[in-house]
Amino acid sequence: WVSWWAAMAEEIEYMKYKDPKQPVAVRVRDLLSRMTLEEKIGQMTQIDKSVANVLTLRTYSIGSVLSGGGSAPLPDASAEDWINMINEFQKGALSSRLGIPMIYGIDAVHGHNNVYNATIFPHNIGLGATRDPDLARRIGVATALEVRATGIPYVFAPCIAVCRDPRWGRCYESYSEDHKIVQEMTEIIPGLQGDIPANSRKGVPYVGGKTKVAACAKHFVGDGGTVKGINENNTLLDMHGLLSIHMPAYSDAIIKGVSTVMASYSSWNGEKMHANRELITGFLKDTLKFKGFVISDWEGIDRITSPPHSNYSYSVQAAVEAGIDMVMVPFNYSEFINDLTNLVKNNVIPIDRINDAVGRILLVKFTLGLFENPLADFSLVNELGSQAHRDLAREAVRKSLVLLKNGKNETTPLLPLYKKAHKILVAGSHANNLGYQCGGWTISWEGFSGNNSTRGTTILDAIKSTVDPSTETVYNENPDADFVKSNNFAYAVIVVGEHTYVETLGDSITLTMEDPGPTVISNVCQSVKCVVVIISGRPIVIEPYLSPVDALVAAWLPGTEGQGIADVLFGDYGFTGKLPMTWFRTVDQLPMNYGDPHYDPLFTLGFGLKTESVTELVARSTSAGCAGRPYALLGDEVLSSSLQLNKIGFLEDFVG
Ligand code: BGC
Repeated sequence: WVSWWAAMAEEIEYMKYKDPKQPVAVRVRDLLSRMTLEEKIGQMTQIDKSVANVLTLRTYSIGSVLSGGGSAPLPDASAEDWINMINEFQKGALSSRLGIPMIYGIDAVHGHNNVYNATIFPHNIGLGATRDPDLARRIGVATALEVRATGIPYVFAPCIAVCRDPRWGRCYESYSEDHKIVQEMTEIIPGLQGDIPANSRKGVPYVGGKTKVAACAKHFVGDGGTVKGINENNTLLDMHGLLSIHMPAYSDAIIKGVSTVMASYSSWNGEKMHANRELITGFLKDTLKFKGFVISDWEGIDRITSPPHSNYSYSVQAAVEAGIDMVMVPFNYSEFINDLTNLVKNNVIPIDRINDAVGRILLVKFTLGLFENPLADFSLVNELGSQAHRDLAREAVRKSLVLLKNGKNETTPLLPLYKKAHKILVAGSHANNLGYQCGGWTISWEGFSGNNSTRGTTILDAIKSTVDPSTETVYNENPDADFVKSNNFAYAVIVVGEHTYVETLGDSITLTMEDPGPTVISNVCQSVKCVVVIISGRPIVIEPYLSPVDALVAAWLPGTEGQGIADVLFGDYGFTGKLPMTWFRTVDQLPMNYGDPHYDPLFTLGFGLKTESVTELVARSTSAGCAGRPYALLGDEVLSSSLQLNKIGFLEDFVG
């Protein structure tokens, strides 16, 4: 009866931390004062969903569960399945002694990319090409809704890396080589989390209700600056270089109320970032006044030692002393909990450091409203993959396209293409492949190939639904030269590029186009006008194949809404995107960034030809007194060729 009595006494005692009317700081302090060391360390532990269950969450008072890249994917799970799984884990956490809710986190890095039927937005590199921070914000709003639709309140995004070298396998997760562009795109954070209130104190995390999620700026710091773009490698820079290139976006993220920051696997001048106290505690927390929590990367603390996990207790100590608050373990949680408990009991790590870490984690949980609304309901499930979000992604695709070449010379543009051409060719390995279009971090860590893993529109389908019903669209993935010659094509759209990759698997020293891309380009472009659309996470080698190409478009990794590409190719919208990265000529020029002394790229950072939409073209030519004249008179060589002329019609036809 003693424990019964204790339970009753607790029941009737007024628990300040449970009272939403109390200020968050009071609730945090009250809860901290009630917690045992074991409960505190449990809060600092993030485990993979595969080792999570009610008993574990309850027993250890586990602070967080995740679906990471290394987690088993759930390719067929519906929004309801996700909610049920997460609520089950949450019930375990709520049944712990103090009932502290866990926070579930997931990599939603271009939309809610682990989930079937979610809207997949262009990867960050494509958003960088839009130069449109408001678009980034709206994508944040949509992503938060889709993530919440599955019962999840926390995303490991945005990646605010500044990719200085396209050989890096994560370049596509970066908005740009230019930190100013990355800074502007941190506007996705208020989209995800909501706008911070006007009077909020600098560095205090903010999340505005049940349709918003906690964000995570990653990977702190210098992840995009490693030598030769080798993933998780060393960033060699003096303090001034680090602060002026890689730090500014963190400063912006913190001003915008970002809830969490993830440490980088990489090193800075030889020191592992996961163990860097000067930058994590000294700079991020003390100088920039960041009040949210710092999370490790997946097994990131293991990699403090070489080989990884060779001295785990030392790694735990180094990471927690450096200022990491939550550790993405993600499997060996009992080892982490034991080691950290011993380090505190043996006075190696002071309890103040633990209290600071747990206080920050609780602050984010209170801010998120998790104590009041720990369990997700089904009210938002229709947000997943909604038409409004797909329309937004389609807009993002349109704005992300960078036109690098249009016509063999300025007076013979090929674009916009004519919707009523009699017969067109669509070719290349990427024309009908949703997986390639989406890239890595889609459904599974490495992404997928083919069209069956999620819902979306391939570029081929988009073209077919854009051209006039009278137009014959011939699809041949890998046509030979005779096939092209023997058909009477008006023009060809070739879609080629890179296959999917992720993290270190994507590091490349050659940056080549996947075969048979170059062969397709030469087979087709020798005998028919062609536009080449590149699907890639970064600039790749293109100069050797360029001369027979009439028009060249960088489309990055556009995601599920391939229709955005057809919208622009066929002139419903103009091209507006600008290169977010320098486009090199040869890989031996790398690294090469704007402002370097020997800067000699194929296309400079910021380059991008503009085109008018057909509507704009017509309006301009009408006002110039050209109404009723064939479009060919505007200088389009294709359209004026004898083959085409009688099929062109007049300007008005383009809009009709
Ligand atoms: C990546 C992080 C990611 C984490 C969880 C790591 O491999 O570096 O960006 O958030 O896995 O999936």
